[in-house]
Amino acid sequence: MIEVREVSKTYRKGAQIIRAVDRVSCTVGQGELVVVHGPSGSGKSTLLLMIGGMLPPDSGTIRYQSDDIYQWPPRRRNEYRKHTVGFVFQRFFLVPYLTVFDNIRIPLVLQGNRGNHRRAVEELAERLRIEHRLGHRPAELSAGEQQRAALARALVGGQRLILADEPTGNLDAENVQTIAECLREESRRGRAILVVTHNKSLIGIGTKHLRLDNGRLVEA
Ligand code: ADP
Ligand code: MG
Repeated sequence: MIEVREVSKTYRKGAQIIRAVDRVSCTVGQGELVVVHGPSGSGKSTLLLMIGGMLPPDSGTIRYQSDDIYQWPPRRRNEYRKHTVGFVFQRFFLVPYLTVFDNIRIPLVLQGNRGNHRRAVEELAERLRIEHRLGHRPAELSAGEQQRAALARALVGGQRLILADEPTGNLDAENVQTIAECLREESRRGRAILVVTHNKSLIGIGTKHLRLDNGRLVEA
């Protein structure tokens, strides 16, 4: 479904050049759950943003079903972000003035889905154990609950490619299990899932495990 080939990204800060992602190649297929593990600063978020159509690489290609997503016109990439990709941001980015329910259903609204969203939202909230928080605002939730709300939001729209940046960064062991089980189930249902994390306890949950070290991807 996704094929990353020889992708590099360099940031410049004044005279300093940071090679964040260095000739990375990998694939994520339908039904696969790929876990990329690496320390802080190894390029995980940069890689995920590039695959998500939010950050063009300096070189290399990212193909979705054989199309180079950065050769598309911006409007097509916008469609890709809306309809194909479900993204869990490392910092959640929940909208503070909306309830958790309204936050979770944002992708359905953006997709123009005018149906009743309640069942879809509640089903995910139950699986992620935040059903009792749907009427609250994000600030009233613990960091772990906010994180699970962000995952519910990434999954609710039915996008076929799920990109999750540190989805367990704020969770205790029990909630790590909850998220791991949810991601596994979604991959069994045929979604392609890529998780990047520094959390070693996620390494075993995937169908494939890679390690990112200083921008370089190595077989783990
Ligand atoms: P990770 O998610 O693994 O912690 P990142 O992809 O966030 O790694 O960052 C990789 C490297 O690129 C780090 O050295 C980071 O400081 C640097 N970096 C990330 N984003 C930017 C940016 N927008 N401008 C400059 N440097 C950046
Ligand atoms: Mg990161």
